[in-house]
Amino acid sequence: MSRVKPEEVIVGIDNGATKNNATALDGSGRFLVDRLYEIPSRVGQGPAAAIEAMAETMDLVLREAGIHRERVAAVGLDTPGPASADGVISVRGATNFAQPAWWGYDVRGALEARIGLPVVYNNDGNAAALYAHRVHFGADAGQHSSVSAIVGTGLGGGVIEAGQVVRGASGQAGELGHLRIATDGILADDQPVPTCACGNLGDVESFASLTGIVRNLLPYWLSRYPDHPLAGMPILEAAKAVRGFGVDGDEMARRVFEQQAAALGRLFTIAANFTDPRVYFLGGGVVEAAPQFRDWFLGRVRAHTLLREEQVAVASLALVPDLDMAGARGSAFAALGS
Ligand SMILES: [Zn+2]
Repeated sequence: MSRVKPEEVIVGIDNGATKNNATALDGSGRFLVDRLYEIPSRVGQGPAAAIEAMAETMDLVLREAGIHRERVAAVGLDTPGPASADGVISVRGATNFAQPAWWGYDVRGALEARIGLPVVYNNDGNAAALYAHRVHFGADAGQHSSVSAIVGTGLGGGVIEAGQVVRGASGQAGELGHLRIATDGILADDQPVPTCACGNLGDVESFASLTGIVRNLLPYWLSRYPDHPLAGMPILEAAKAVRGFGVDGDEMARRVFEQQAAALGRLFTIAANFTDPRVYFLGGGVVEAAPQFRDWFLGRVRAHTLLREEQVAVASLALVPDLDMAGARGSAFAALGS
């Protein structure tokens, strides 16, 4: 919306499984709040309650920042996917939108009708990717390309080309987690090929996500280290604890994260041959850990990212900043720039 005036305001809303958070951006691209404003998302109560919660999230940030609603020109919204490019939740449902009432539901259109303002939609990975890109390149964002991989429960992220999110014909572009990678040289000789909830064998998410640790990496590596302190723990608990062991230099944990880093490096190698981005962004808890562990992990990802000499000369690896606010802020940028 290039017609947004400097004194007008864009609200960005990030919708999650349990919470929404929101931010506010003025028409010149300056954030008017520097913290998170959060309320329960009520997604589990169905679409009507969830849309109401999104509207309340907007009201909350406007009230807290002392902004009159009349100044708001548009709203940026993100939700977890899969969803179409214009915000229709997949007809096959989605992890966060389990009830049939959500299947094929037009969440963008419903929020637009509820608040009476234009709503611009992105999935959460794309919104965070756009934020990382805009922060990194600033005024030159439109001249550059980037790829973001964000390690969470799943593997999210997005592809930015000339400053814009690559959405694809059906809105499914940038589903980086479900790209299959070659597993030779990553897996141990007797290690089964990891499986993903999407049905794929050996895709990026089957390694580089909390789900991948739970389903694949930890069960295998604990079978090789039966005396490890995590061996007796429920698997989800153990998966959440394994990073702490990695930070402390534990051998079994480092093998888990080495395999995650290798999968991410192979993803970035695909990106190098596909869009040849200027920056490869990494986000998630694994790179928000202690600096020494983060630097080791980044170094391993870099080692597994095979770039040509010409690419090494111009490309860099960087972190997704402010990950807790990246979705809301990227959504606001998307609404400002669309
Ligand atoms: Zn998958």
